[in-house]
Amino acid sequence: MANWCENCDRPEESDVCEVCGEEIAPASIHNGVPWRWRFFIVASVVYLGWRIYQIISWIVHK
Ligand SMILES: [Zn+2]
Repeated sequence: MANWCENCDRPEESDVCEVCGEEIAPASIHNGVPWRWRFFIVASVVYLGWRIYQIISWIVHK
């Protein structure tokens, strides 16, 4: 798997990004794409909160 430039959000074969010139740390589990996971978790929490609100609202108005 290639390295990943977080500045440009693109894969890069060498150790230095040829678009922005940033040095790139070798790809690993720890520097993957955590912000996407955070967004996914936040979206899931908001969705679940909305569903729970709907269920409570349905029970109250039944
Ligand atoms: Zn870059």
